[in-house]
Amino acid sequence: MAEQPAERILVVDDHPDNVEIINARLSSRGYAIETASNGEEALERVRENPPHLILLDVMMPVMDGFEVSRRIKKDPSLPFIPIILVTARGDTEDKVEGLDAGADDYLTKPVNFPELEARVRSMLRIKRLQDELDQKNRQLEEANRRLRQLSITDGLTGLYNHRHVHELLHEETERRKGGGDDVSVVMLDLDRFKALNDTHGHPTGDVVLSETASILRENAREVDMIGRYGGEEFIAILPGTNEVAAAQFAERVRSALESYVFEHEGKQIRMTVSAGVASVKGSRIDVPDELIKRADEALYEAKESGRNRVVRASALVQET
Ligand code: GH3
Ligand code: MG
Ligand code: MG
Repeated sequence: MAEQPAERILVVDDHPDNVEIINARLSSRGYAIETASNGEEALERVRENPPHLILLDVMMPVMDGFEVSRRIKKDPSLPFIPIILVTARGDTEDKVEGLDAGADDYLTKPVNFPELEARVRSMLRIKRLQDELDQKNRQLEEANRRLRQLSITDGLTGLYNHRHVHELLHEETERRKGGGDDVSVVMLDLDRFKALNDTHGHPTGDVVLSETASILRENAREVDMIGRYGGEEFIAILPGTNEVAAAQFAERVRSALESYVFEHEGKQIRMTVSAGVASVKGSRIDVPDELIKRADEALYEAKESGRNRVVRASALVQET
């Protein structure tokens, strides 16, 4: 136990004698004692460095112990700090008011030292348990946050995964029901990717996929949602973007990729991408999957008509 830092107890009383007598006793038991002679000072010390326990006099000028207790207990920035009220007034009403003010225990003056020590030990025990609980809760929240992140992310590229892209698109179209901005979807698929894998191997293919993801991110805005839709297929959901602007985005990506040189294991590799673009007016209540289907049809047309190009879904509709 020697290496453990001493537990810190704040003793608050407007009479220096009272502070001193408790200080002497508890110091001799190995606790680190801090003192305050009024409520304001006590609050200041608590906020600077929360103690493990507070022994709090009730009757003090300006701010009594009840008020100090209330303020500490309702401050959400503070951890749980047990408070033992110490007072000469021992009637039931006082005890009730003290406990209602958030105090955890009650001692009457003159202080009986063995009782004081027993109550201090008991309160510190509760404090330790509460701190452990708080820490476990924080760990649990952090683990949940990481799990949630994993569940929506594609491991190779760090983009959203297929499932989450669908969720996002549903949310986006739901938000815009009955009016709002346009929404666009761009589907992009690397050209002749299988040949790249066959020639240079799967790991090189993986490098191309993850760097393609970076190119997509660099060309997207903060509000755009980029996902890996399948093997070498990507999707961008562009809120507040009409088909013309979405096609410009797709063209930027196409052109950036065309001029980009992938490097892996001394090899230099060039790739191209085909893209299909579809949009929906904010005022139309559309089925999100329909939007993806139209973008996919446009992508198919981009492949069919020679690859390394962007095709707009509206162009297809006019043709047929
Ligand atoms: P197209 O121009 O018509 O799109 O032809 P393609 O070869 O790109 O398309 P295809 O769908 O025939 O081949 C896609 C290939 O992508 C096949 C598959 O092995 C590969 N692939 C899928 N996922 C991954 C991955 O995570 N890493 C790597 N390296 N390859 C992948
Ligand atoms: Mg492909
Ligand atoms: Mg494909």
